[in-house]
Amino acid sequence: MTDEPTAQTTGLSPATTAVTAGRPEHRPDAPLNTPITMASTYVAGGDLEYGRYANPTWTAFEDALGALEGGRCLAFSSGLAAVSTVLDLVGQGAKVVAPHHAYHGSIAQLADLESRGRLSALLVDTSDTDAVVAACDDAALVWIESPTNPALELADIAAITEAAHDAGAYVVVDNTFATPLLQRPLDLGVDVVVHSATKFLAGHSDAVLGAIVTRDDQLHDVLKQRRDMVGAIPGTLEAWLALRGLRTLHLRVERAQANAQALVERLRGHRQVQEVRYPGFGAVVSVVVDGADRADLLTRTTSTWVHATSLGGVESTFERRRRWRTEAATIPEGLVRMSVGIEDVDDLWADLEQALDKLP
Ligand SMILES: *Cc1c(COP(=O)(O)O)cnc(C)c1O
Repeated sequence: MTDEPTAQTTGLSPATTAVTAGRPEHRPDAPLNTPITMASTYVAGGDLEYGRYANPTWTAFEDALGALEGGRCLAFSSGLAAVSTVLDLVGQGAKVVAPHHAYHGSIAQLADLESRGRLSALLVDTSDTDAVVAACDDAALVWIESPTNPALELADIAAITEAAHDAGAYVVVDNTFATPLLQRPLDLGVDVVVHSATKFLAGHSDAVLGAIVTRDDQLHDVLKQRRDMVGAIPGTLEAWLALRGLRTLHLRVERAQANAQALVERLRGHRQVQEVRYPGFGAVVSVVVDGADRADLLTRTTSTWVHATSLGGVESTFERRRRWRTEAATIPEGLVRMSVGIEDVDDLWADLEQALDKLP
């Protein structure tokens, strides 16, 4: 294992890195941005060879995200392709510890692998550090999502990582909700960071993309080999869009987080809101209203807020999570997950307030 990030981040603040990483060299007539290279094959004799193995536009995105997370990045066709590739590393019959409220697609993969005898999954409350530490015994992999989707629970990543490493397990953190600007898991000793770049990183609700970041060169190579082998590669245009989105990540996160914090205060004071879950940072807020019908009505009577799944875009979106059959049954029926965007906060509140006021 190497501790040195290979990307050229040293000394620069994340805002500067977001803007400058993954650019072509500064030389006369070079474009400021890495062009979109549409190529299924390359002239033989170099490093690229074939379009499933390498693409300069992916590399530019990977350099930028790697620099922000402090490791080496590999882009994937989606967040779940990245999740699947990491879970594929686990040996036959091995034990995986994971949060009971993680992203439902990740939980579904674990359940599917377990049902086919590939691994055994132990789901725990990752906000209960003692419970997770106890579960690490005999584990091959500890999967953390913090904050969790959509319950917004936090894990003590450093403490869990220490216990997991003592037990000989790898630690993976799905850092989709926090982004590398609010949390850098590799600095806490975590082995692999996974992203749905579809969300905050790309940030404009127009591309599906995933990523893995690690400082472990051997893990990087194995994951790259698996990506080559199964072809879970990003689209060139998606990688380019995500890199373009990444250039404003710090501004978007700052504004969306400030909006979220202001809305949390106002939501807590509204009589229709039974509970507001907010981990103190980030731009995702979950509110609980009384029952599925009220929650459904809330999501259908706004004009600025869009009723839609996903999160992390410049637009404010929200949905009742239990409208998905695959969402955990322990998530309240009336829980609405809100992805706060970068609009004017007073407009966002006025729209929400009129919708909440209309509820029976
Ligand atoms: C959306 C999401 C995923 C899945 O990513 P896709 O890009 O949709 O495949 C994984 N983890 C979290 C936390 C997510 O929010």
